Amino acid sequence: MSKLVAFAAIQGGYNIVQKAEGMYSQMLEKYGSDQKLEFPNTAYYLPIIYSLLGIPVKTLADAAKPLEVARGLLPPHIKGRNHLPYLGPLLDAGMAAIFAEELVEAFRYVEDPNFYLVSEEVDLDNGKIWLGAAEDTIFRKRGIEFVDGTAPGFAAIVGAAPSPEIAKQIAEEYQKRNLYVFMAANQGGTTFALGFANRVAMSFGGIKPGDYKGNLMYNKDRVFAFVNALGEVNAEWAANAAGAINWGFPTIADTDIPEVLPTGVCTYEHVVANVIHDEIVTKSVEVRGLKTTVSSIDVPLSYGPAFEGERIRKDDLYLEIGGGRSQCVELVQMAEMGDVEDGQVELIGPDIPDMKKGDRLPLAITVQVAGRKFQEDFEPILERQIHHLINYAQGVMHIGQRDISWIRIGEQAVEKGFTLKHIGTILHAKFHQDFGTVFDKVQITLYTEKDKVGEIVAKAQDIYHARDARVEGMTDETTEIYYSCTLCQSFAPNHVCVISPERTGLCGAYNWMDCKASYEINPTGPNQPVEKGEIIDPKLGQWKGVNDFVFQASRQAIDHYNFYSIVHDPMTTCGCCECIAAVLPACNGVMTVHRDYTGETPCGMKFSTLAGTIGGGQSTPGFVGHGKYNTTQRKFILGDGGLLRMVWMPKSLKEELKEGIIRRGDELGCSDLLDRIADETVGITEEEIMSFLEEKEHPALNMDPIVG
Ligand code: SF4
Ligand code: ZN
Repeated sequence: MSKLVAFAAIQGGYNIVQKAEGMYSQMLEKYGSDQKLEFPNTAYYLPIIYSLLGIPVKTLADAAKPLEVARGLLPPHIKGRNHLPYLGPLLDAGMAAIFAEELVEAFRYVEDPNFYLVSEEVDLDNGKIWLGAAEDTIFRKRGIEFVDGTAPGFAAIVGAAPSPEIAKQIAEEYQKRNLYVFMAANQGGTTFALGFANRVAMSFGGIKPGDYKGNLMYNKDRVFAFVNALGEVNAEWAANAAGAINWGFPTIADTDIPEVLPTGVCTYEHVVANVIHDEIVTKSVEVRGLKTTVSSIDVPLSYGPAFEGERIRKDDLYLEIGGGRSQCVELVQMAEMGDVEDGQVELIGPDIPDMKKGDRLPLAITVQVAGRKFQEDFEPILERQIHHLINYAQGVMHIGQRDISWIRIGEQAVEKGFTLKHIGTILHAKFHQDFGTVFDKVQITLYTEKDKVGEIVAKAQDIYHARDARVEGMTDETTEIYYSCTLCQSFAPNHVCVISPERTGLCGAYNWMDCKASYEINPTGPNQPVEKGEIIDPKLGQWKGVNDFVFQASRQAIDHYNFYSIVHDPMTTCGCCECIAAVLPACNGVMTVHRDYTGETPCGMKFSTLAGTIGGGQSTPGFVGHGKYNTTQRKFILGDGGLLRMVWMPKSLKEELKEGIIRRGDELGCSDLLDRIADETVGITEEEIMSFLEEKEHPALNMDPIVG
């Protein structure tokens, strides 16, 4: 804090207290000590003084005490070159100013009851604006809205905007965000706003008059208000701004008011100056840490969890995206505050109205999220929600995640007017509803041009790899807490993933780190810490704590499973697995197939058939779903011999996992493992690949029998 700031505010505090004292003696002389002192039509006396000091000011005589308190709060003047390191004196000066200011406003009502030409709620294009003190009727109607969440907060606009147009523009922008607006031409407006806030604390928050700290804390935590100071400011303004800091209400000014940037009382900065009018609304919302709430989802379809499991059959299909035949990718990324415009949804390329029934499109859904509390670690968590959030739309089906998403849009949805752009509308609204506490702004850009989608897929893959690799150095042995994931229970009611560092979720989208971050964001959500507890089988990967958790979370359907085995009671599998591995008994090994490969496989089933057969949330010995990245994690089917058992994979998957397979093969003493694994160019039956495996001396052939 600069000396100048403190100096201005403290000086302002002195000025205001002095002015109040001067007015007070004149008033006493003119009206006598029995003169009534009040704001019209309010039962809260002078609300700031009453709420914080517990003094009910009813007459001029009653004003003596609070004036004394104000005087007593004034800190010593700053002398010499000393730097003031603490906020304390500034806050006290501000508080003194606010007490004195409230008295000044009350004196004004005595002198001229019509001082504020309009002292009631007026409509400005259906919005709510107050001038002067809010009467009890308005207060009762509106105050509750700050507590029940209908209105997220209010803006106290004090001072004069350079033109009525600018004033209107600012007010309307607040109203668009459901914020109420107090407007007052003089700095007394701050006092009215703070008084209103304290009335909210007393009548809806159960805070007792005189509970100084309780009132202020309630406001800081519950009432999202802030002050906009417009026009020329002086020391008295600075004192008012300093006063509002006590409530946790920052002041954002359009002029060169001294700034108080370090945090301490307010959520973020205390006083921010020189904000241009076009940005004052966004900046204010940001500085106060105000959360946008989106109550309804503006799409022409029914929307909700009830539609999640719905399938779109071939006959009803209007448009198909992804699913192996075109690319479909989802990517959530953190961005700078200034680079994100909340609620902006853009679609670049053709949309549904440009298509005809039976068409296909590629699609990239990119989401930029910004917020003071947002972390890169949260990206995968929001990204993983896209699956169920799109699925909630009636007539729209979503399967998969990352770069293997698959969307089908039914004919009825198209008839009702659904377009791809609505995906953005859904994500904006639902992200705010479900994760609004960890970010401030979200914008969505969708691309449907082939080249652009390809570009984003490539970029996304790099990001996915980097995310996967975050658990690279961790081991299951040295980690006591694993995490559950029950996100998929809407499709597979008994399915529980338990995710350890070396056993990433089978969807590939949630690893141990992601679950940990998800638990931090939402402690009662789908990712719970699981104490692994006593070890039951180190080779197969089974722990007592995990079993107990799974038993309860699967609603008693599953009482145990093994992390590192496909043969013996493997983990349960749901429909979103990236890959499905299957035992090939004749080859003494296993194969695995990923979703994008639509051809036949040596186990006799295509991916879709496999998913349909084992993806309902049960444990199916001989088969297990797993993430691509998990294939090259050290514990992958270790209980059955590990990656050396792998005898067949689609060529494209081999290519994608090349580096990891080579590295892992090396570690296992088989540096050319990759070349010994067969693919569809070698064959798609066990017999077809057998001679290849023999020729390559595949290590699986010399291992113990896989079943037996
Ligand atoms: Fe969670 Fe497992 Fe579903 Fe992935 S597959 S979302 S980890 S339950
Ligand atoms: Zn699933």
